[in-house]
Amino acid sequence: MRFAAGLYREQAAAAALLEETPLSGNLQRDGERVAESAVPLLGWIASNAPSPLAEEAAARAAQDPLLPLRAYWSGTAEDDYLSRAVLRPYVQVLAAAGARPDRARAERMCPFCSGAPWVGSRRSAADADGAARFLHCALCGGSWQVMRIICPACGESDPGKLPSFQSEKHAGVRIEACETCKAYVKSIDLTLDARRVPEVDELLSLGMDLWAAEQGFMRIEPGLAGL
Ligand SMILES: [Zn+2]
Ligand SMILES: [Zn+2]
Repeated sequence: MRFAAGLYREQAAAAALLEETPLSGNLQRDGERVAESAVPLLGWIASNAPSPLAEEAAARAAQDPLLPLRAYWSGTAEDDYLSRAVLRPYVQVLAAAGARPDRARAERMCPFCSGAPWVGSRRSAADADGAARFLHCALCGGSWQVMRIICPACGESDPGKLPSFQSEKHAGVRIEACETCKAYVKSIDLTLDARRVPEVDELLSLGMDLWAAEQGFMRIEPGLAGL
């Protein structure tokens, strides 16, 4: 939890550095600036993260930090906590400036940056037809509305294949799973308390992720804790 809060702070500092002059959204062209923001961020992770994340961050800061970022950007290295953490301020600054990231579009992923959803939420809908479902992007921090009955990973829409699980210990948190591809996303119910911050709130229910893994489900995109 303290690591997550510190990482947020360091990412905000990196974003402030990147905001100074306009970016293009093309990682090749913006590379030098992204590398400049990546080195202090990797340095902070190297001294504050648990191992082996810390060692990996130190190694990347010492080499060309852009290499793994390019692989992540092109979609060839999906599960890469460090690249995601380093690219997040860059994509957030692009989002604030309305500059579209120059990345291949991915079906069902974030409509702005093609990032994967690391958490979902349910919010009160204007029409009385139940709550609206949103997915939250791990990369740009934005969210987008999706159909209530669909797997964000494979597109399954048969309600019988899309079970959801809750735990008495964690009110308003549910595992939205898919029997077809075995993926799941954890969703926070904001209709109970709209002040909850899904990305942070979900860290309090990591026990549910351990349970889901035991049932053979895989989280679509790990959260801040890396699970
Ligand atoms: Zn996004
Ligand atoms: Zn699926």
